Amino acid sequence: MQGKIIIFSAPSGAGKTTIVKHLLSVNPNLSFSISACTRDKRGRTEENGKDYYFITPEDFKQKIANDEFVEWEEVYEGAFYGTLKSEIDRIWASGKHVILDVDVKGGLSVKNFYKDRALAVFVRPPSVEELAKRLTARNTDSSSSISSRVFKAKFELSFEDQFDKVIVNDNLEEAFANAEKLVNEFLEAENTKA
Ligand code: ADP
Ligand code: 5GP
Repeated sequence: MQGKIIIFSAPSGAGKTTIVKHLLSVNPNLSFSISACTRDKRGRTEENGKDYYFITPEDFKQKIANDEFVEWEEVYEGAFYGTLKSEIDRIWASGKHVILDVDVKGGLSVKNFYKDRALAVFVRPPSVEELAKRLTARNTDSSSSISSRVFKAKFELSFEDQFDKVIVNDNLEEAFANAEKLVNEFLEAENTKA
């Protein structure tokens, strides 16, 4: 079996983590690619080596110099995130398909790197106002972090057309069903084109 990659990208707060976690819970052939990042761990909710590899900016720079990333971005000022080549190889060697959750620019870079082996899915929130509400209700970010995420979201929404598929995350159950359908179709396709 040739391993494939499923990319979920969206503005922060649109619901991609929720959708990716759901897909992982229903599809045992998928495995999550854990990114490296330099932001602080969210104390109560995140674990090192599960949600991210939380590393120092110095370690991150060293990995860039060693060419260890498929792609990396300074997603927010001073916060670096990157997809590790070693993660993709680890998952493919285990006989599974990769699923990952990256920002919009990073998602397009991963798609460009793996081409037809990858399916790039954009998750769109029903509105920017709803996105801000979700970020506030999630209760994981400061108000300045929420403001910068909402500001960036307005720009990121303009990239939707460059993705293979779009899911509108309004009703969550419908979004789950749509995501399952897209992923199953892509993984079952003889020809890896989405
Ligand atoms: P992202 O990974 O894109 O930043 P999350 O998956 O963390 O987004 O979702 C942001 C917040 O919105 C979370 O608190 C999540 O539970 C909530 N959420 C996700 N989808 C919906 C939805 N369809 N309706 C209402 N709240 C949602
Ligand atoms: P958060 O801090 O909310 O976990 O993530 C912030 C943003 O960084 C999200 O849009 C998330 O998808 C993105 N992100 C996570 N990992 C990576 C990665 O490896 N590369 C890129 N480019 N973005 C990432």
